[in-house]
Amino acid sequence: MPSDNEFTRILQWPGYRVYRHAIDEKNKTLELWVRRKRGNRRLECSGCGRKFEEAYDANERAVRDLPWSSLTTTVHIEVYRVKCPECGVKIEKVPLLPSKAPFSKRFEDAVGQACESAAARQVARRFGLAESTVRAIDLRYLERWAASRRKPALRQMGVDEIHIGKKQKFLTVVCNLETGEPLWFGRERKKETLDAFFQEELSSRQRHGIAAVCVDMWEPFRLSLEEWLPQCRIVYDKFHIMQHANDAIDEVRRAEFFRKGGRMRGVVKGKRWLLLSRWVNLTAGKREELNQLFALNRRVCKAYILKETLDRLWTYHYEGAMLNYLQRWIDQLRWQRLEPFQKLAKMLLEHLDGILNYCRTKVPLGVVEAVNGNIKALLRRGRGYQNLRYLLLKAQRIAATKTEFVVFRRAA
Ligand SMILES: [Zn+2]
Repeated sequence: MPSDNEFTRILQWPGYRVYRHAIDEKNKTLELWVRRKRGNRRLECSGCGRKFEEAYDANERAVRDLPWSSLTTTVHIEVYRVKCPECGVKIEKVPLLPSKAPFSKRFEDAVGQACESAAARQVARRFGLAESTVRAIDLRYLERWAASRRKPALRQMGVDEIHIGKKQKFLTVVCNLETGEPLWFGRERKKETLDAFFQEELSSRQRHGIAAVCVDMWEPFRLSLEEWLPQCRIVYDKFHIMQHANDAIDEVRRAEFFRKGGRMRGVVKGKRWLLLSRWVNLTAGKREELNQLFALNRRVCKAYILKETLDRLWTYHYEGAMLNYLQRWIDQLRWQRLEPFQKLAKMLLEHLDGILNYCRTKVPLGVVEAVNGNIKALLRRGRGYQNLRYLLLKAQRIAATKTEFVVFRRAA
């Protein structure tokens, strides 16, 4: 059996030594009792940080620490209270104990790191904890990380809304386009929603630092931006405009489905995903399926071509050329009687300045889409994100570490 000294060397809690230990081989547990080493007697008030030589009284806390081989480890630690003239009788600050929860800091770090690549349910099973405990540990881990890092400046901002369900319909998401990191979530998608971000989260100096904003052609957001960031350029980006094009083609598909009976229904049915896909991303077999559909329905074919060609608008870098291309695209709509696309064209013309702004201010394409995708993936995977703060920290951590999610599928 190792001595307490050897246990101290293996435990490696800086400033602490093991003075008692117990191993239960049947229940696979290791218990260690630790206290401060001699010469480590400067106590710090957890309220104000004032230093003390004398303790007011002592207490023992038990926390779970990293396992030793197959043994679950509990550390009993002596903690002191100090009599602080500022805060009264207060517990000392112990860096190894980050919260009131019964876990050591490095145990919480291990759980938090595990949560970066696996669902809370799996981490819970691995550590033998309740799922809700794992999420609480993960949240504290992320809060500590957020508090310790520098926030990059916000010069280009993205605003998007995510549809999250029937009851609580929309979530407004503000992100930093340069770092690809979500910054803030707001419930709903009103003007007041975005107003709250500018009012509560940014100083006037920070607001002035924002040069460009990528946003959907959504009136309430535009009104908020014009009020709070009068100097910034609004850019209606490709992602949002192509979302509207996808809505248009879906509307054409549905109209054709109901307009034509019999055979046509069978051909259009189940083709939604295909019609929303880009041609370049389809396999030969899928292209053939689409071609069969196009041969039978000219209108769906035309709509698909219109959607595909609109995408090319963002290959232009000069506003004159971009405008020309858009004009030619709109000309193709004549005599087509594709109502949803005519509505789209009208919308594009009404927001022309913000579309051409893409040529005037270079903003990275695809960032809003990627942020959006990460958040949706989180929402699909996990429960526990009713807590928006947790969802935000989680999404920020993904952006900062570029963690790819390991997708676990339930066995069928
Ligand atoms: Zn104090």
